[in-house]
Amino acid sequence: MKFSQLSIQTQRAAPSEIRTDGLAFLYRAGYASRSGEILSLGQLVLERLRQSFEALTARFGSSPETVKGFFVQIGLNTVKSHETDEVFAIIASGSDEILLCPACGYASSRELARTRKQPYSSEAALPLKKILTPECNTIAQLAVFMQLPQEKTAKALMFTRLEDGKFVFVVVRGDMQLSESKLKARVGEVRLATAAEIAASGAVAGYASPIGLREALVVVDDLVASSPNLVAGANEHGYHLQNTNYPRDYQAMLVADVTQAAPGDACPECTAALERRDASIVSSNGQIQFEKLLLTLAEIHHDEKGLTLSAHAAPFDVYLMQVPGKTLDTLSAAETLYQNLTDAGLSTLFDDRDERAGVKFNDADLIGCPIRVTVGERGLQSGMVELKSRIATENQMVALADIVSKIKEIL
Ligand SMILES: [Zn+2]
Repeated sequence: MKFSQLSIQTQRAAPSEIRTDGLAFLYRAGYASRSGEILSLGQLVLERLRQSFEALTARFGSSPETVKGFFVQIGLNTVKSHETDEVFAIIASGSDEILLCPACGYASSRELARTRKQPYSSEAALPLKKILTPECNTIAQLAVFMQLPQEKTAKALMFTRLEDGKFVFVVVRGDMQLSESKLKARVGEVRLATAAEIAASGAVAGYASPIGLREALVVVDDLVASSPNLVAGANEHGYHLQNTNYPRDYQAMLVADVTQAAPGDACPECTAALERRDASIVSSNGQIQFEKLLLTLAEIHHDEKGLTLSAHAAPFDVYLMQVPGKTLDTLSAAETLYQNLTDAGLSTLFDDRDERAGVKFNDADLIGCPIRVTVGERGLQSGMVELKSRIATENQMVALADIVSKIKEIL
């Protein structure tokens, strides 16, 4: 395709509101608008990515291996979630948070990651005891007042199930965070309970306890179920219960993992410490998210001059340009070469503009096709053109007769 047909508009600089280097280069190279809308050059990439994926699926069937193979082909390192059918690319600008095991490769979104939970102590159950705990309506205040670690406390979270208005009372260890995603996967959609709903269940906010509730669906985190002698609320303002033990003191409809894993927690597969990473979901349930994929590729595949997309992800294989000559007609030589490259099945962007060579070289780097071919007078005198791989530092002179085979060799 000719540069003039695509109406590509490259930019010298990106506006400061563009957050990341990848987005800035997509804008500067004319793939996307200032507001992130995908323009013609970007649409060509999306089309190419879709076709590559469809070709792989047609050949190897639709499976997680095909998805993985596709990402490898376009130059993207990905991790597959162990908890869902999601694939993540690990990039600093990603808007998703994952936990990753550096030892065995276990990966999951932070919300759904599992961890090997260990009770804080394995002491024998002690008798239940009501204690006065003034001004202790948070776990932090309670732990200080009791001179106990937060691991020895239980925390209550109260919701109402949307489906049937059922009051849902969740107990997690005081130092842990509830994963609403895990909870919803177990009980369905919920919202925070209102003060009236809490009161109706017999719970007292700030001092809530699973002991002595009316008509509640009690969910106990599995770690709470295996932790002896936790301090929990007494459902009475200013009081807590010491040495609560499940199931001795209260019952639950459900004992399940409903807490968030945190960086440093033990990997559920091998117990090495999980690490936090910023990431971007690029596929879920076998569906590739192509636009997000283009943004992710741009974040990873660029240098200080522009995009460096792989042959499977670039809009064209070849960027063809010509430098005007004094005695030879380099433009018509380039036209002929353009035809030959196209006939040979190489998708080619022909920069047919009447621009200075410097402008064309800059745009070639910015747009980032894997191969640049330059037709110049000196080379042409001996039947040669200049070939440069986008990611190579050196260029080479290649005989016109060999150019197609040489390019295919590099791609
Ligand atoms: Zn592991």
